[in-house]
Amino acid sequence: MKKLSICLLLAIMNHFLLAQPGQPADTSWKKQYRETTTKINDLVHTKLDTKFDFSKSYMYGKAWITLQPHFYPTDSLRLDAKGMDIHKIAIVKNGKESPLKYDYDNWQLNIHLDKTYKGGEQYTVFIDYTSKPNEVKVKGSAAISDARGLYFINPTGEEKDKPTEIWTQGETEANSVWLPTIDKPNQKMTDEIAMTVPAKYVTLSNGKLASQKKNADGTRTDTWKMELPHAPYLLFMGVGDFAIIKDSYKDKEVSYYVDKEYASVARKIFGLTPQMIAFYSKITGVDYPWAKYSQITGHDYVSGAMENTTATLHSDAAQQDARELTDGNNWELVIAHELFHQWFGDYVTTESWSNITLNESFANYSETLWNEYKYGKDAGDDQNFSDMQGYLQSNSGKKDLVRFYYNDKEDVFDAVSYNKGGRILHMLRNYVGDSAFFKALNLYLTTNKFKSAEAQQLRLAFEEVSGKDLNWYWNQWYYGAGNPNLDIVYSYDDAAKKIQVIVNQTQTSDKIFKLPVAIDVYNGANKIRYKVWAQNKSDTFSFASSSKPDLVNFDGDKILLCTKKENKTLDEYIHQYKYAGSYLDRREAIDFASKHQDDAKAVTFLKTSLKDKYEGLRSFALSRLDMKKDNVRKDVEPVLLDLAKNDPKKTVKAAAIAKLGTYKKPEYASLFKAAANDSSYTVSGNALEALSEIDSVGALAEAKRLAQQPAKGKLSSVITAIMIESGDESSAEMILKNFESMPLSQNKFNFLQSMGDFLGKTKNADIFKRGIDDIVTFRDAIPEAFKGQTDPYINGVLLKGLAAKKKEAGLTEQSEYVISKLPAEDKKGF
Ligand SMILES: [Zn+2]
Repeated sequence: MKKLSICLLLAIMNHFLLAQPGQPADTSWKKQYRETTTKINDLVHTKLDTKFDFSKSYMYGKAWITLQPHFYPTDSLRLDAKGMDIHKIAIVKNGKESPLKYDYDNWQLNIHLDKTYKGGEQYTVFIDYTSKPNEVKVKGSAAISDARGLYFINPTGEEKDKPTEIWTQGETEANSVWLPTIDKPNQKMTDEIAMTVPAKYVTLSNGKLASQKKNADGTRTDTWKMELPHAPYLLFMGVGDFAIIKDSYKDKEVSYYVDKEYASVARKIFGLTPQMIAFYSKITGVDYPWAKYSQITGHDYVSGAMENTTATLHSDAAQQDARELTDGNNWELVIAHELFHQWFGDYVTTESWSNITLNESFANYSETLWNEYKYGKDAGDDQNFSDMQGYLQSNSGKKDLVRFYYNDKEDVFDAVSYNKGGRILHMLRNYVGDSAFFKALNLYLTTNKFKSAEAQQLRLAFEEVSGKDLNWYWNQWYYGAGNPNLDIVYSYDDAAKKIQVIVNQTQTSDKIFKLPVAIDVYNGANKIRYKVWAQNKSDTFSFASSSKPDLVNFDGDKILLCTKKENKTLDEYIHQYKYAGSYLDRREAIDFASKHQDDAKAVTFLKTSLKDKYEGLRSFALSRLDMKKDNVRKDVEPVLLDLAKNDPKKTVKAAAIAKLGTYKKPEYASLFKAAANDSSYTVSGNALEALSEIDSVGALAEAKRLAQQPAKGKLSSVITAIMIESGDESSAEMILKNFESMPLSQNKFNFLQSMGDFLGKTKNADIFKRGIDDIVTFRDAIPEAFKGQTDPYINGVLLKGLAAKKKEAGLTEQSEYVISKLPAEDKKGF
């Protein structure tokens, strides 16, 4: 699963999370060991017949479930079946059904079998039932707005501009809302799903489409067959009016299900998939194991994406138009992430949620691997670094990677299981070397294929291939918490002709980390590497050197998961930028120089770095320029102008234009006007914003002209802001529409303030109410887990402020309308 991921929400809502309060007072869960579910019965095969009632959002199901006792004989079967109406349960023998007795508590079925079955003796149970997903109350995760399992989107067609769809979301244990099953990750089965749907819709499920049959009542029955076993949470159904674009990998279908208006850009979004399949097949040594690979987009899917076997579901945020794509495909790494799960997660599956990092660390690391392969080492290192920051900023230093103690199973889908897990793989790759690393992945996959695994099985594969004992690594990183905080002090003793590197571990916990690491000593371009182990509270490493070196570089490969402090000088950092030269070496140098912008040498260096060969570092250097400093403004202006005109990367160009805008020079008006017509929304938006600073009349005219075409992203928010600023009520419709069409995102949250300004000014009561409704709809759509951070602003500041303002202006009706939307505690004082 990808909650941009933590999967998606972390990225979207990151800043709310940073302000998260501490643990809730109830910590009784800390004592509850989460054991792997005992296997009493094993799933073998599920055959399912489904029909849908769109008016009630019900699914009528008939399931034939084949199982066998795992080892010990048993005469009973416990199945997860959440919130269903059960009509009939029977044992099926030679095509004949004999009813079985059962107990049902609306959550689990306890079925009394007709006899005692021996270990491995198969039997088939038939269940006739109705699934009522909207009537099941389940505590959901931060990633999944709730755990309904089966989702009817706009089922009766009442919502304009939204298609009618059905899709399912199983992880963690929600597929048992629509299918009686043993809803645990350590089960695997083959399946066959028949979906009867209105003939105008297409369907998608796991495996291959085996047959399609037209029915007399205007429906069609599609039967999908999954002939290789996979876990229950990976079963999937999708229904809707999608365009299907087909590619292939070898002789297998690779397809993309998108809303019809995105058919022409589907390949621009998903078209690298066959290349990714080839790449991941090659590095794992396991050719893509499944019958096909489809990807489908779902509306109102607030998680990022989900790796259902052969049928990945993506949020509709994946659907970007041609202009958005000129900035780059912001969904490419999600596509990579879900695809790699087809090996790590689907082919070999975590045996328990405690071990979820076996799925997610690999999917997370696959993003770094893909970037490195496709766009070069800088791009890979960039991804690795940004994921590392995601962990370091998540304030989760006390959580073990493999977590046997947790409050809710959804809690393990976090920056530890994903980001930290990915970095631990990166360090492991550096320690054992590339060829051993990928060979060990192959051994782990082939040994455990179609089964579930725990973290020790990964260790055994690495030990077998490398011949190294790795207990220490697993105990330190997988079964332990935290990360080293390093204080590194370099010095040179002229008399003794010695370099000294002191490495202090300053983390507050008692835990001391064992870190195999390289120290590189540079004289000019010449590098001598020393391999050392930092493994004490304080380690001192000494090396002979006839003169003071130009640079001593601890962690020469820049792979450590840590925070660090170093006493390098600007000259040393400049040397590092030039000669050590990896992404992080250069980034650290830019970072250091950016903190010394009073120093002419630092600014000269920053100016050079604006021309870095890697666009991510050009953008980083741009973002760090202190435009309040005269020396900086004067020095970098020609470079900014060059980047604004000529940089091949739209994102860099856009950032340079924004910086150039701070000069407020009328002579740039024509540049900004031209750039406002750029195909990139970001370039266009930034240019229009810059223009508005020097020519508000011209900018308003441009905004009105540009608003004739659909606008998204930065351009959309700048147009709206300019119109709000102008106080032009005739733009109200456009302003509200823009807000309404923004997806649930950080951007939308940031835009609330402009909405507040606009609604505070407007005299039109209908517009005002509609705007308040829009804010309230947005407020209510924010997932529960984030409301604690967003509600205080939306209710306590924005809405209360508007209510007070309208009351003051004597507009009682409008004021009361806002108050009626506030929760009880915020109504006080009115
Ligand atoms: Zn994932």
